[in-house]
Amino acid sequence: MACNKDHTKIQDYMKDLPIDQGGVGRHKCAACAFERGYELGRQMIENFNIGETISNLEESQAQNQRHKSPHAAFAMGYFLGVRDYYAAKP
Ligand SMILES: [Zn+2]
Repeated sequence: MACNKDHTKIQDYMKDLPIDQGGVGRHKCAACAFERGYELGRQMIENFNIGETISNLEESQAQNQRHKSPHAAFAMGYFLGVRDYYAAKP
């Protein structure tokens, strides 16, 4: 299945990710990986399996997430989620 979600808002994050041409995350949607990482980080969820998470993602050849590392995207999303978790605390 190919990803057809609207990832317009996070294109700036996608630009700076490393390329994963031919790697383990090849063709997986890095933008979906970013969003999944963000959700987990925002809720401070600690127990998850990155390999499983990435293998469950849809594929993508679109926009700035094309050929980008879903692992790096996930980690960046998680980081930003955790940052926003703290920012939202009173
Ligand atoms: Zn996607």
